[in-house]
Amino acid sequence: MNLPSQLAQRLNHQLAEAYPDFLQALQLPAPVSTRLNPKKTFQHSYSEKIDWCENGFYLAARPVFTLDPLLHAGAYYVQEASSMLLEQVVIQNDLDKNACLALDLCAAPGGKSTHLLSLLQPQSLLISNEVIKTRANILSENIIKWGYPNSIITQNDPQHFAQLQGLFDLILIDAPCSGEGLIRKNPEALNEWSENNLKLCSSRQQRIVADVWPALKEGGILIYSTCTYNPEENMQQLLWMLQEYAFRSLPITLDERWGVEHLQEKNLHAYQCWPHKVKGEGFFMSVLQKTSSSNTTNLKSGKTKNNTVHKSIVQEVSNWIQQPEAFHFHEQNEMVFAFPKQHDALIQLLQAELYIMHMGLPLGEVKKNKIIPQHALALSTQYNPTAFPSFELNKEQALAYLHRDSIDLSAAAKGFVRLTHQQLGLGWANNLGNRSNNMYPVNWRIRLNVS
Ligand code: SAM
Repeated sequence: MNLPSQLAQRLNHQLAEAYPDFLQALQLPAPVSTRLNPKKTFQHSYSEKIDWCENGFYLAARPVFTLDPLLHAGAYYVQEASSMLLEQVVIQNDLDKNACLALDLCAAPGGKSTHLLSLLQPQSLLISNEVIKTRANILSENIIKWGYPNSIITQNDPQHFAQLQGLFDLILIDAPCSGEGLIRKNPEALNEWSENNLKLCSSRQQRIVADVWPALKEGGILIYSTCTYNPEENMQQLLWMLQEYAFRSLPITLDERWGVEHLQEKNLHAYQCWPHKVKGEGFFMSVLQKTSSSNTTNLKSGKTKNNTVHKSIVQEVSNWIQQPEAFHFHEQNEMVFAFPKQHDALIQLLQAELYIMHMGLPLGEVKKNKIIPQHALALSTQYNPTAFPSFELNKEQALAYLHRDSIDLSAAAKGFVRLTHQQLGLGWANNLGNRSNNMYPVNWRIRLNVS
């Protein structure tokens, strides 16, 4: 691998005598790893665990993930191992013990958001935001597949969060960066690398932090991470924050055998993964706790922009999910969705300030006298398995379904049928008896040849 000469010089200087080890690691294949969805269990034969992540596993080789129906059922997420260190921050700061309001500001494609959803209490709420529209669509797809109802997806610029003063207990800034840490997995990242791009990334990161800092509560936690090595996007950003804001840098305890480098400067703690020391890619992470007081946003409960849902509809859809008593039902543009009751007061505020792409659990679309079940419902971990007839597909049938081919459902009940693979929901079909309509979302259809 030919590194751009300025990048090579920088890394040589930064790593000193370890530089040859680093170069050697770049010649090795990138480890392949996945993180399992604890709410969607299936039979697997993964055996090599990732030490710092309970549901993380290394795979011996890279399969064609697109041709595995379980990926589309949200049973696992393909994620680089170093970034799974996020789990240690959550656990060691008890963020998994108490309900919290969390924001993943730069969330696409959704690796850390799906991880957070699995770790946080079900009473917590996660807002996953992505500013770039096309990437926000991919984020939605991945979060809907993961199937957690305590989630909102927004597509906003970070500055739009500044109004939500003192709202969040946890903010994750997994910042857009120069991506030096991913060059082994994704060598084309090198084409983008330049000193100038690095400076642009660094000033963009400062702007993002400045925009969102007011939205963090006093005592709230901000996780700043990148997948790059240079100090300008990492430690120097923390030093800049130290001048601008009041916070405590929180250390985390990591087993020495994991190989993560602990960086310390002034009172700052940060953690750097290098591919020659950790079984994973390059990753940088630091945890800050805000110590200054913040203005707080008042949450007014009251009427939302949504229409009241007709009683008969509430009665019908309540039967579609488990624990319906924990949710309120809302209707917007003919779409009925369930949203956790305890966060109801937030809806009005968020609808006023943000562009919301997805909220809670979309249940169905009201059309004439019918409610057409939504795709998200079939994939939801909240789904009531007795709500609709289901029909189990083998791998070949499941792939044909995901390809949007017509499926033979002559052995299934008529009407809306939830199709499953290894008992996990894949989506809906409408079985008309002599034929069936494939209701898999057009934009999600797999395009690889499945036969
Ligand atoms: N957290 C994600 C995950 O774990 O899957 C990866 C996030 S990636 C490192 C950074 C994200 O920031 C990208 O999706 C990118 O589109 C987004 N981004 C780009 N410019 C941005 C900006 N000015 N403000 C906020 N986010 C931005």
